[in-house]
Amino acid sequence: MSSKPADLAVPELLTGWGRTMPSRAVVVRPATVHDVAAALTSAGPRGVLVRGAGRSYGDAAQNGGGTVLDLGALADVELLDDGDVVAGAGALLSDLVPVLLAAGRFLPVTPGTRFVTVGGALAADVHGKNHHVDGSIGDHVRRMDLVTPDGVTHVLERGGSPAGDRLLDATLGGMGLTGAITSARLATIPAPTPWVVVDTRRADDLDVLMALMTDPAERHRYSVAWVDGTARGRRLGRGVLTLGDHASPEAAHGRTGRAVPAGVPRVGVPPLPVSPLGRASIAAFNEVWFRKAPRSRDGELVGIAPYFYPLDAVGGWNRLYGPRGFLQYQFAVPDSGAEVVRRTLERLAAIGAPSFLSVLKRFGPGRPASPLSFPIEGWTLAVDVPTSVPGLARALDELDDDVLAAGGRLYLAKDSRAVPATIAAGYPGLADFRALRSEIDPRGVLVSDLSRRLQL
Ligand SMILES: Cc1cc2nc3c(=O)[nH]c(=O)nc-3n(C[C@H](O)[C@H](O)[C@H](O)COP(=O)(O)OP(=O)(O)OC[C@H]3O[C@@H](n4cnc5c(N)ncnc54)[C@H](O)[C@@H]3O)c2cc1C
Repeated sequence: MSSKPADLAVPELLTGWGRTMPSRAVVVRPATVHDVAAALTSAGPRGVLVRGAGRSYGDAAQNGGGTVLDLGALADVELLDDGDVVAGAGALLSDLVPVLLAAGRFLPVTPGTRFVTVGGALAADVHGKNHHVDGSIGDHVRRMDLVTPDGVTHVLERGGSPAGDRLLDATLGGMGLTGAITSARLATIPAPTPWVVVDTRRADDLDVLMALMTDPAERHRYSVAWVDGTARGRRLGRGVLTLGDHASPEAAHGRTGRAVPAGVPRVGVPPLPVSPLGRASIAAFNEVWFRKAPRSRDGELVGIAPYFYPLDAVGGWNRLYGPRGFLQYQFAVPDSGAEVVRRTLERLAAIGAPSFLSVLKRFGPGRPASPLSFPIEGWTLAVDVPTSVPGLARALDELDDDVLAAGGRLYLAKDSRAVPATIAAGYPGLADFRALRSEIDPRGVLVSDLSRRLQL
């Protein structure tokens, strides 16, 4: 464990990726699973939470006034003969990717950054560009080791027992509130080369973009659209769709090299006193980005890193938003609520909210057994917005109502501003989740700023 007893250690200031809502907690770094159990059983009145790499946007990985566990020491990675990978919860996906690629394998699901931990990915039940084909990461868990607040380690394997399955399902998307994940065994998928064959389609408006994204002829394992979040009027929702599949050796023509991700970003952003991002600069960036995309191109070979993790090339890019930070508004709606996507883009354009990162994806069926897992079949839109935009809070509150009326929900891993009723309405399984928490954690040991704010 950390060399100082928790009550003598100096609390550290922690934020999420959006750099809003800082709070202080004592950070403890357990060296073993035994130490994790000891930290949970000896929790103080403000409780304990495991924090991964802090890549969730809001307050999910904070526990103001309490203890935060950093499981960075539990980071072993082992590839098994059957292609599964066993990893400590503190391992980063960037530790797994080179091991997998060397064996012609890849992560079954990856978020848009590889600098997240295995534990954080499972706790948020993350999705990638392939949800419509492969589901979320929880669909690929073969085993998970979870330490509950009583200090007991549960080895959870799908189908092991109904109680075990319930705990496993609640932990996938459970945002660290069911226990500390210490390791997991995940299935992997074939990736015979470190390249992706990418087709690109440029769409002049939202109708065209959405039609392309639901066109059966355009079905690929990976599908993601960058949307110009500053376009208005007849250009509203214009964007660039990229469709990808892992390249076979024939398709890759024996190419190697650049495609293998480097472990660290090539350039970084220093702390900035003010944000250089203004409405005009973001609009100009979006214009260039849109124009430089080909109207239609097939068969481009793109490396794993630039395809899956383009933002990882710039370390600390979240600092570009300046000291006031930013938020990401991400919701999912069923197909019947597709118009919410349009209304969100309209509403944010109307208040002049500049976004250079707006991403639209398709979701396949979700996993209702996991009460707080985010995906539901249909659409998901994620929009990065500086928190300083006038009128933002009110606009997002109204959009929340629109999302809920359409049968949708917000993503807890991105949230920094919702109220409890919004989450309760979007997640009908929340009552079950709370019931399970009161069974496994009657003392209320596991707690986060997010769980306090949203009464999870
Ligand atoms: C650039 C960028 C792109 C992203 N793209 C996507 C995307 O495409 N899809 C997507 O789904 N998400 C995406 N995310 C969000 C990110 O994948 C999730 O927020 C993820 O949970 C972050 O993992 P982390 O290790 O940083 O966890 P943290 O942010 O530190 O923690 C997140 C939650 O996990 C819990 N947790 C962490 N470790 C453990 C553990 N060992 N045991 C129990 N609970 C634990 C924490 O308590 C907290 O509630 C993106 C984030 C960024 C910054």
